[in-house]
Amino acid sequence: MVHDPCGIINPNAPCMKDGECSKQFPKTFREETEENVNGYPVYKRQCIEPVRVGKHYIDNRWIVPYNPWLSKKYNAHINVEVCASVKSVKYLYKYVYKGHDAASITLKNNDSVNHDEILNFLDGRYVSAPEAMWRLSEFSMSDKSHTVIRLAVHLPEQQAIFFKEGQENEAVEWASIKDTTLTAWFKLNLIDEEAHEYYYADIPQYYVFDKPSTKWQKRQRGDQQVIGRMPVVSVQDSERSYLRMLLLRKTGVISFNDLKTIDGTLCETFQEACEVLGLLDGDQHWHDTLLEAARMQMPSYLRILFAIICGFGEVENIPDLWTQHKQSLSEDFVHRYSEETGPLHALAELNKLLKSYGLNLRKVNLTSVDLQCDLFRLSYDAMEEQSKTNANIEKLNSEQRYAVYKVLHAIYEYQTDIPKCFFLDGPAETGKTFVYSRERRSSHCCSINRDSSYIVKWRQNCSL
Ligand SMILES: [Zn+2]
Repeated sequence: MVHDPCGIINPNAPCMKDGECSKQFPKTFREETEENVNGYPVYKRQCIEPVRVGKHYIDNRWIVPYNPWLSKKYNAHINVEVCASVKSVKYLYKYVYKGHDAASITLKNNDSVNHDEILNFLDGRYVSAPEAMWRLSEFSMSDKSHTVIRLAVHLPEQQAIFFKEGQENEAVEWASIKDTTLTAWFKLNLIDEEAHEYYYADIPQYYVFDKPSTKWQKRQRGDQQVIGRMPVVSVQDSERSYLRMLLLRKTGVISFNDLKTIDGTLCETFQEACEVLGLLDGDQHWHDTLLEAARMQMPSYLRILFAIICGFGEVENIPDLWTQHKQSLSEDFVHRYSEETGPLHALAELNKLLKSYGLNLRKVNLTSVDLQCDLFRLSYDAMEEQSKTNANIEKLNSEQRYAVYKVLHAIYEYQTDIPKCFFLDGPAETGKTFVYSRERRSSHCCSINRDSSYIVKWRQNCSL
């Protein structure tokens, strides 16, 4: 299992991308395996004398992770990665169940150009012989070891009520005499001293929720494999999320008012109760929120959450929040790009997300001049862009040229932060995209610094 030598020895290897091996070979020698560096383990690679394989001398740095038993059994190259951390649970569920790899392929003669756009959106699916057999035999695709009890988390009188159309009144009436798992827990605490030992989330381990009577009853058979689960409450649903925060910390509660009574004083809101309890001091609860979300959410969602949290304007130290959760916030980009540039891409995306809250990286103290330079450097090769511009500017016709200069003029002459919008309209095939990409390339530097967005459409007679 040797990665075909690449790099300086073989610059034309298929793995080479922009002068570097896209699989990051050769790896480095190291004494110990390190778990989970950005989702992948970094394996122990002992330093050995190079061995001649084919035309090249190779050593342990070129070995692809493999399992000798699998390679021998299937007589094939099988790349194996170890995934053995609690974090992999997230990936097991997200990736295994997200659906099948699909590709749509069309074979046709060159002359029959009959483009059916709808066909492109048909969901294609390939089921291999072993999977087909597995499904035909109706073997189960997954197995469950524990029973998960979903616990209601709702504000007073705001429990979810399900009803059939036309039976709304009956449903409301029914709900008024029935308890939810939460209000039933209050009632349990009133009559059962022993229940005071447990937090709400732990109650299902000791009590069973009897649906007909909507009461918690003592579990007869102990040692059940049961997990109580409180749903995630968005931080935007603030009172409810503060209520949830209190439920995680108080036992023996007998009513909603009791829940927000701290040291004998009834607080106005659940938020105030959290404040009095000192739960909102510093940024700890924001750290907890991100940590909890990171266990089950993908990085793209975490960035949205991060932006929402910033939007509240209550975080004391946003740069610290970023630094501590940088890894989970930029995991996907690190995987796609590199350890160094991944977080920068994540920041760039955060910048876009922050806009909905009237914020940007600068306003939340997350950016420095460095970031802009780095982002700039990532996507921009000045020499290359300049030569492309020089070559293409020659190809513009006079009307196209007029449009390009009009836009460039707006960038260079008016040194303001006000975004500008150009509308370039025109029939198909008059070169709108060509003009747009010329303008974008030659003004790339400015568009980053000015933070402006340009919508450019091309009208044939150039009525800008
Ligand atoms: Zn390579």
